[in-house]
Amino acid sequence: MIVGDWRPATISEVADVTPTARVLRVTVPDWPGSEPGQHVDVRLTAEDGYQAVRSYSLGSYGDGDAIELAVDEVPEGEVSPYLVRDVQPGDMLEVKGPLGGYFVWRPGGANPVQLIAGGSGIVPLAAMAKARADAGTGVPFRLLYSVRRPETAIYRDELERLAGDGGLDLTWVYTRGGPPGWAGRVGRVDDEVITSAVWPVDRMPDVFVCGPTSFVEHVADALVRLGHPAAKIRTERFGGA
Ligand SMILES: Cc1cc2nc3c(=O)[nH]c(=O)nc-3n(C[C@H](O)[C@H](O)[C@H](O)COP(=O)(O)OP(=O)(O)OC[C@H]3O[C@@H](n4cnc5c(N)ncnc54)[C@H](O)[C@@H]3O)c2cc1C
Repeated sequence: MIVGDWRPATISEVADVTPTARVLRVTVPDWPGSEPGQHVDVRLTAEDGYQAVRSYSLGSYGDGDAIELAVDEVPEGEVSPYLVRDVQPGDMLEVKGPLGGYFVWRPGGANPVQLIAGGSGIVPLAAMAKARADAGTGVPFRLLYSVRRPETAIYRDELERLAGDGGLDLTWVYTRGGPPGWAGRVGRVDDEVITSAVWPVDRMPDVFVCGPTSFVEHVADALVRLGHPAAKIRTERFGGA
């Protein structure tokens, strides 16, 4: 029964994908479908009636009653440690959505697309990259993905596959350490990285930036300083530092 827009949902599958993150596949009967980049609110109810609500981006998109979330544990957090460590197939929760119509990529545009992710900010951007591949559109896509180390990258294999088939131009930024034999730089996304890895301003890219608040603000400020029109930059902040 749907009460106040909340839909009952069942965890169908869990997969540990990094030392701190899990992909959750969730079955939502009568799910209306979603567009690449949208999110849901997730509501958990304890036995004593206490409720907690958090937002999670959809790593999936399209029709069908199966949705996918990817949750990274925030140390000392209330909800994410439970979703990453405790929930199991068969457990119930509630979802509201799909939500958000602004941070969405719809196949059809001609402009190149620039995705810029920090940490779990990859989730909605991965849905966009998958949607691009599925649509078979020739729209050029670049992804700049900043992670601490290779093993902390959510959707690493999927993204490498999307890059391998020639569709996605993928640049990794490692802030703490690269893979064995890595000869590239180690450090945060800065003006030099943006200038070399992001579509130049005169290509008029549609830019999507997602991740922790400080990452998003730093990157968006740098993009504007480097000449990208603010109106072409869409951001989504995940809270925290
Ligand atoms: C639109 C939207 C989409 C989101 N999508 C995802 C997603 O796909 N995957 C995902 O893992 N998270 C996502 N988030 C973040 C998520 O909603 C929670 O904020 C996160 O899981 C932490 O919840 P918590 O209850 O564990 O921590 P809380 O108990 O809420 O917070 C504990 C402490 O951690 C800080 N904090 C809160 N969130 C973060 C964070 N993201 N990073 C660092 N510190 C933080 C708080 O300031 C607080 O001090 C999204 C947020 C939004 C708004």
